[in-house]
Parts: sequence; C-alpha cells; structure tokens
Amino acid sequence: MCGVFGAFSPRNFVAEEVYLGLSALQHRGQESAGVAWIDENRRVNVVKGMGLVYEALSQSVLAETPAKSAIGHVRYSTAGGSMLQNAQPICANYAQGPVAIAHNGNLTNFESLRDTLENRGAIFQSTSDTEAILQLLAHQPQRRPFEALMRALAEARGAYSLVVLLEEGLVAARDPWGFRPLSLGRRGDNYYVASESCAFSLLGASFVRDVEPGEVILINERGVTSYRLPLESKKKWLCSFEYVYFARPDSMIEGRSVYRARQEMGRKLAQVETANDVDFVASLPDSGTTAALGFSAESGLPFEAAVVRNRYVGRTFIQPTQKVRELGVRIKLSPSPDLFRNRSAVLVDDSIVRGTTAGLVVAMIRECRAKALHLRISSPPVRFPCFYGIDTPSSVDLAAAKYSLDDIARTVGADSLRYLTREAMIEAIGLPPDSLCTACFDGQYLGGEDASASCGGNCGKIFD
Ligand code: AMP
Ligand code: SF4
Repeated sequence: MCGVFGAFSPRNFVAEEVYLGLSALQHRGQESAGVAWIDENRRVNVVKGMGLVYEALSQSVLAETPAKSAIGHVRYSTAGGSMLQNAQPICANYAQGPVAIAHNGNLTNFESLRDTLENRGAIFQSTSDTEAILQLLAHQPQRRPFEALMRALAEARGAYSLVVLLEEGLVAARDPWGFRPLSLGRRGDNYYVASESCAFSLLGASFVRDVEPGEVILINERGVTSYRLPLESKKKWLCSFEYVYFARPDSMIEGRSVYRARQEMGRKLAQVETANDVDFVASLPDSGTTAALGFSAESGLPFEAAVVRNRYVGRTFIQPTQKVRELGVRIKLSPSPDLFRNRSAVLVDDSIVRGTTAGLVVAMIRECRAKALHLRISSPPVRFPCFYGIDTPSSVDLAAAKYSLDDIARTVGADSLRYLTREAMIEAIGLPPDSLCTACFDGQYLGGEDASASCGGNCGKIFD
C-alpha cells in the first residue's frame, strides 16, 4: 500500500503543500517518501529518502522550492524491495522532456511488460513495477508525453492510481477497475490529487470528487480536462480492505464515509452473535476502534478504551534490538489490568492476518486475569493473498487459510472467535457487490485467476 499526492497552482509554490499532503497520507506507507517537481530549466527534480515524511524530506527546503506543480509518494513496499532505489516518485528527463511518476497499486502484468521492454533495449534502474510505465512512455519518443502516457497505460493491467508530472501539466490516472482510491480536491484555482480525501482538509482544500475508474485527468493553466482510457472493465474492483483497515476513517471513498462503513461493520458484527454475560466491548486501537463503537451501539454493551496504544513509539525512537523483538506488540499496545480483571470482554479488531497481533494481545489480557475474552473481527477471514498493491502474505502464512476458526481461537487463546461475513461486509460498505474487490476473502480474482496464479502476463484473461 502506498499514498500519492499531487498539487497544481497557477501562481504559488506547491512543493511544501505536497509535503503536508503526504504527511496526511503517512498511514499508507512509512518506508520512504519523496517529492518531485519540474524546474524553470524544464528539468525534473526529486528529493526522496527512507522513513517517515519528516525524516525523509526537508519541509524548509521544499517551502522555498519554486514549483507550480509537484507530486509526492509515501511507500509501503509490495512490488520491489524496501530500498531507496525503489522509493518514488521515479523520474526521467527523456527525449520529449521531464516526467515524474508516483504509483499506488501493483501491475499484474509487470513481468511480461519488463520482458518486452528489456527485449527492446530498456535498462531497468529498479525492481519496482512503476518503472515499467515510465519505460513504456519513454519508448515512444515521437509522441507528446501525455499521449505517450495514455498509450502506456493502455498496456498496463492490474492496479494503479497514479499522479504524473509532465510539462503539459499534472496528471491523475486510475485503472479501469478502480482498485485503489484517488480523489480530486480544490482550493480556489489550486488543484490537488490525493489517494484519500483526508489529505485535502489539512490544506484548506475541499473534496471535489473521486477520479473515476478508467479516467485520466490533465490539470494545467487551462483548468481540468478529463479523458478516458481506451479500456472498459465489466465490473469495478475497488478494494474492500480500504474500508476495513487501510484508509483513514475521515476519508470519503466513492461517496462512502470510511468511518460510517467501519461503524456499520461493527454493528453487523454484533448481530452475528454476542456472547453471554459480557461486561464491556474493547478494541485493538486504533484499527478496531470504529468497529468496536458500532458493536457497542448495536449490542448495548458499554465501550471501554481498555487497550491503550503508545503513540510515541515507532521505528524512529526504538531500535529493533533482540529485546524489542521479544517484546513484540507489547511495546505498542497495553491492556489496563483494572478494566479487565474479573470481567468478561468482547475485543474487536478489524482483521487477522498471520494471527500474531491477536495472539499477543489476548495473552496480555489473560495476564490481567480477565474472566472471559471473546474476539470479534469486523471483516471476513483473510484466506488469500493480494496481487493488487497490498502486502498480504501468501496463503501459507495466513492464519485463516491454514486453520479452522476454532483452531485460531484456541491458538490465540480467545474463549470464542467470530468474523463478519463477506455479505455483511459488503452491505456495511454500502456499494454494489459488483463494484468491490473481495479477493483476499474469497479468492475471486480479476479474470478468474486462482489464488496460486501471480497474474503475471495474464492480461488476456482480464477482460473475461
Ligand atoms: P496479524 O498480526 O498478522 O494477524 O495482523 C493483523 C493486524 O494487522 C490487525 O490488527 C490489522 O489491523 C493489521 N493489518 C491488517 N492488514 C494489514 C496489512 N496489509 N499491513 C499491515 N497491517 C495490517
Ligand atoms: Fe483489497 Fe483484498 Fe482485493 Fe487486495 S485482494 S485489492 S486487499 S480486497
């Protein structure tokens, strides 16, 4: 998962606004951050570094950088390793001028694109799939960059929400399936593009609309012009996990508030079954809290903030020594003994992936001598990997792919375990079922690829 941000202004310097926009998208990636802009000499410039936005970039330098349009990226590696070489935006000054690209998503036909391009003489500088888009564009030196970009995107399959900087303007593009969110914002005659609408408020900008699946928007002095990619998809594939976990609760995606969707998931989870003699509902903060509030409202059980997150620990402040590894989730989450002692609780989290977090937190709560602990998960069991830009492990590491629900409950030490059904999750999101991707829950991949297929080079199937 990654976050992208772009800004255009007919007058002002916007590089610092991109820095601020990225900081509002920090939850989408913490491995690296970067900002790119085109200077008065028609050259593309980029600054990037490893770590959080404030570690990787200098706000004061960007504040003084003259740029009427700029793009930025925060990265959580999915395709390509975690190294500075793979940090984005990726940039080039090629025959037709400067170009910079920032990408959220995964191209499912990256390997076949790279093979084709390398056979044409392309030399890849990174292992990131985003570079394939740049290479496809640069391999059309006879075309204007925007037209070359449109043609490059027509070759790409899978998930991409992009911001691109060209001399012709700032470009926002979303794949025809609409996997990852992308939205357009505005303040006066300044325009912004962001992975999530939560990034606009920080800049005093308002949310205009989502960039539509298959839409390419060009923003420059002439305003905003919308184009369509020459590809149609039979159904839309917006990632349902964005509503479950990834997106910030104050974002709107496809007209649906992430907060409301999450709260509704909690309500529906309470309808699945509430264990008897429960005293209160708690959450794993922050990911389970909104659903826990919905659970509490529906069940009538009081919500207690009984597990506390230490907001001040992160990679920056604590070195990953052996001692810290042993402490694991303890360093971040801590249950209040007084609230759990001799009481029965429902503990809500948004998802179980490997089962590590749930196991460690339940063990800590047991140490508080809780009477009973019922684990409730506000999404269906994650049984399949994601090929569309999320770092889900392969099935061999997914708890729900390996074990029955009773076994998971036993392994993590909960008295009972219930998940939300796929249907209830879709109802809670409130979008038509044929507009959502639920592949990591049900194995229904784009084009019917089965779970073991990497989808690489399978473009033909995509239009099934
Ligand atoms: P695990 O400990 O592997 O079971 O991971 C589950 C926890 O990680 C939950 O508390 C989720 O909020 C969170 N989570 C779910 N999906 C992801 C993801 N793709 N990357 C990072 N964290 C995640
Ligand atoms: Fe989202 Fe899961 Fe689909 Fe990946 S497979 S895009 S995480 S719903």
